[in-house]
Amino acid sequence: MENVMYCQSCGMPLDAESYGSEKDGGKSMDYCRYCYVNGAFTSDQTMEEMIETCVPHCSNNNPWPDADTARAEMRKFFPSLKRWAAAK
Ligand SMILES: [Zn+2]
Repeated sequence: MENVMYCQSCGMPLDAESYGSEKDGGKSMDYCRYCYVNGAFTSDQTMEEMIETCVPHCSNNNPWPDADTARAEMRKFFPSLKRWAAAK
């Protein structure tokens, strides 16, 4: 069984097309290409700001039914991600 990897910044599932990139051009195995390019985060956001950025992309049943549910679930999920766990 292959474990699904999640971006350790925004929580989206990572597949072959969505990995970010390291400074040397290699693939980042931790972050997606929206969050992490050339070895650096694309935006300097707090966890709460990241959640707000993600809410419109994760509601309307994709996967959460609405913005309030999406926000509540991400507040539970995000503190376990590497980027935000380090900030605590
Ligand atoms: Zn990401």
